[in-house]
Order: sequence, then C-alpha cells, then structure tokens
Amino acid sequence: MANDVHAVKEMVVQAGREMLRNGLVVGTWGNISARVPGGFVITPSGKNYLELETGDLVLMDLEGQVLEGSKPSSEYHLHLQVYRARADIEAVIHTHSVYASAHAAARVRIPASIEDLAMVVGGAVEVAAYALPGTEELARNVVMSMSDRWAVLLANHGVVGGGRSVREAMLVCQMVEKSAHINLMARSLGQPFELDREDAEQMRRNYLASYGESQIV
Ligand SMILES: [Zn+2]
Repeated sequence: MANDVHAVKEMVVQAGREMLRNGLVVGTWGNISARVPGGFVITPSGKNYLELETGDLVLMDLEGQVLEGSKPSSEYHLHLQVYRARADIEAVIHTHSVYASAHAAARVRIPASIEDLAMVVGGAVEVAAYALPGTEELARNVVMSMSDRWAVLLANHGVVGGGRSVREAMLVCQMVEKSAHINLMARSLGQPFELDREDAEQMRRNYLASYGESQIV
C-alpha cells in the first residue's frame, strides 16, 4: 500500500509539471489532487511545480483536516467536496487554461458538439455559479453544476476536471481546453451543433467500455 501511495504522489508531481508545460496554468496557479487511503493528497499552496517533490504534497482526510504536510492549496475545499460527492472520481485537477477560461469569463457553457468531449466528459461542460476563490460556496457550486459529468467551468475563473486516475483527469482538462478552442472557432463559422444527449451518453458508455481504468492509469 505504501508503494501505491508513493506512486500516486509521483503522478501528482508529474502532472504538475505537465500542467505547466502544456500551458494549462501559469506560475503557481492551478492545483492537483488524488485519492489515497484515508483521504487525498493535494499540491501545496504557492509552490513552483518545477520544484515540487512528493514530500511537499499535503495529505488531508475527507473531513478537511490536514494529516501530513503543511499548507494545502487554497482551493482544497473544491477537491474535498468533489471527493465527498463523487465516489467514482479518483483525481481532480483545477486549471486556468486560456480558451476554457474565456468561456468562464463570458459564462458560456461548452456544448457537447465534439465527440471526444462527449466521451471523456459525458456531455457539455456547464458553468458553475460565481463564488470567491477558495471558498466553500465555490466548492458547493462546482459539485452542483458538475452533477454526474467529469468537468465543469468556474465562472470568471477556470476549469475543474475529474478522472479515474491523475492521468485521466489531465486528459479531461486538456480535452475541455481543446473543445473550448473548437467551440470558439465553430461559433465564428455559425452555430455549433450539439450532439443529441442520447448519442453523447452512448459515446460515454463506449469510451468507458473501451478505455478501462487500467488502460488510462
Ligand atoms: Zn483557480
């Protein structure tokens, strides 16, 4: 079990570097967490991702208490509430990527008009009502608007993506960013056509059947 926890921590650290490298955040913004026995590990507050090590991660329980480490990300409420609400989510990533944030700024949802978005998110990416960053109110709004999907936009702020692994949560955040970019371009050509809800749900089922947890992890 100890090795598993270490492997999860390594994935979180690697994802931090990837998030920066892929331009999903700048500086120390954004945060990453993953479930471990007894709670979850989360990136610390204000630490440069290029210098982040597994020992810097903060272990929290599902009551929001710090069990190991010092100061968790200021957005820990958001991660905590997603884990409490969604037993199917094993990892959560919060980013400020540009095209998704443009939708968040305009408070415009990203429709399920692209098949791969439907596969990994399970439908459109809705916009959670505005609340100040780091608050429990923001966390509640995120859980409500995310519903049973795997990503949500935070009004005037950014994106939250969940996954069955850290790697899948990263895939979700990248897919939301790509779909936001496509939506913006499609709107310049006309009105994007949204997939039928039933078709989108079928694609999600197909994705789950084809890409089991083991293939993603
Ligand atoms: Zn943020």
